[in-house]
Parts: sequence; structure tokens; C-alpha cells
Amino acid sequence: MGGLDRAPQAPRRSGHPGEAGTPLEAPGARRAPGNPGHSSIPGEFPSPAGSPGSFAHLRGFVFDLDGCVWNGSALEPGAREALLALHGRGRALGFLSNNSRATGEDLRRRLHGHGITVAEHVVTPLEIIGEFIAERFGPSRVLVMGAAELAEAVRRGGHALVGFDDAPQATVVVVGNDFDVTYARIAAAARAAAAGARLVTPNMDPRLPVEGGDFLPGCAAFVESVAVAAGVRPLVVGKPDPPLFHVTMRRMGVSPDLTAMVGDSPAADMRGGRAAGMRTILYAPKGHDNLDDAEVVIRSFAELLVLAGVAPADPGGVR
Ligand SMILES: [Mg+2]
Repeated sequence: MGGLDRAPQAPRRSGHPGEAGTPLEAPGARRAPGNPGHSSIPGEFPSPAGSPGSFAHLRGFVFDLDGCVWNGSALEPGAREALLALHGRGRALGFLSNNSRATGEDLRRRLHGHGITVAEHVVTPLEIIGEFIAERFGPSRVLVMGAAELAEAVRRGGHALVGFDDAPQATVVVVGNDFDVTYARIAAAARAAAAGARLVTPNMDPRLPVEGGDFLPGCAAFVESVAVAAGVRPLVVGKPDPPLFHVTMRRMGVSPDLTAMVGDSPAADMRGGRAAGMRTILYAPKGHDNLDDAEVVIRSFAELLVLAGVAPADPGGVR
């Protein structure tokens, strides 16, 4: 355990809140114009007063997983310490992922395996895709082009699975990350969708980040092959559409206006979080130039602790 655990006990800075020349954000954190911070929680590290742009009074933080909390099998630097510190200071934590193969329980166990034992609320499209289809189309005959876990989640939602040989009988086509993709599978799924089956996907992520900054093709790469050939557009269960965000916050017991979405994707995390009524923090370790994408951009989890008011701005205190 590093110094982050000790950071919240560090003495409060002596400068006056809002004093000119006393930046209270971590070095490198960039904030969109018109969003200076302040703290409204007694005993916590203050940011400049009198602004509606503070993150220090927030009660909940929802984290994207791939590319934010972890990359492939490796945690992002400082992620574990920051999450434990936030939890220790009473912030509710939620995690959501567009992962089309894992359940929330799978990812919760993985977080615990990384020492993030405070992870409780973890939600993926697999949790809700069966319900999503049932609400819109009732009990359906579903062709699944994707992982066995995705097919199982659809089946659990009360739907009948249709094999590729019987694709014309499908009333819904679900396409996820398909590691067994073949031309024949794309053809069968596209024909069913073109014939009127509704096309549904866990997410439209173009890429799946893996360690070392590399990537695998994401759901969108598979869905688009079917959608383009069929001439239809998919319905999306995951980010940036609202269902995942709302389910996660409901389980955390927090309201959107007191919750921040932290993630690495402007399109999925920031746009989706904003649409769900949340505050937005873009995690960009290599920096990010477009300040319109989020309220604030952070380059490290240490900066997040400063923003959240649980660590002092002194960079020596959050190392
Ligand atoms: Mg991500």
C-alpha cells in the first residue's frame, strides 16, 4: 500500500481557499473553462470557493474499467490505492463496462483479485440485455453472434436461442464480440436482420484495449459488418446509452447530480455520463486536448483524489 492511504490524513494546506496563485488541482489536471472547483464538506481539502464546478462534494464515483481502472490484465498506476481511499472517505463506488462477455459478478471477482476489495456494484450489458429485449419485444427467438456468455445472458432473460442454421426464424439478432466470427455467421445474421429481425448489441465500442496500448476489434467492428450488410441500425444496451449508467447509480444509492463518471472514452463514458445527468471526468494519462469532451481531464488517479477532495493538492502528498 503506498502513500495514498496516508494522504487523507495529511495536514490541510495553509493557503486561503480561492487565494490567487494557489492552484488546488493536481499538476496537469485540466478543467474546462467556467468550472473552477470548491469544497462544501467540512474537514476536507478545500478547492476555490463559490463555484458550482466542484467535485469534492460528490458522493459517488462510477468508473469505466477497460482503459481506465485497468488495461488488459494490468491495473492502471494508482488505481487500487485511489479506489480504496475514496471508499475510505465514504464515497460510493460503481463500475461499469461495455464488456460483452463478462457479467458484473465476473468483473467484481476480477477487481477483488486485484486487491480492489471495495468493489461491490459492477454492471455490464450482460446483466440487462435479456430484460432489455423482453421489455421492447417480449419473449423472442434470438440469434446470438457472440460469446457463449452473451447467449446465456439472453437465454436467462426468457428468450429462445436460434442456431445459425435456423437464422431465418430469429425475431432478434444479438451481435457481440465474436471470437468465432466467420463469413457464414455474418451472412446469416445480416440476412435475418435484413428480413426484419431486430438488431441488438451490448455496445458499439470500436476497440477493446489490451495491455501495452494495443487493442482488439470491439463489438462495433462485428455489429457494423452485420448492420451495413442488412441496411439497419442496431439498438445499443451499453454505453453511451443510459441503461447501464442508471442501473449502476440505482444500485449505489446515489443521484446523478452527486455522481461523477470517470472514464477514458469521450464518446462512451463522457457523452453517456453527461446524458445520464452525471458529472464527467476524463482519464487521459497521455493528455487530451479537447476540453469540450469532459468537465475536467486528469492524467492520473492521484489527480482524481485531489479533485474529489480526499487528498491535498500538494503533489508530494499524493505520490
Ligand atoms: Mg474504457
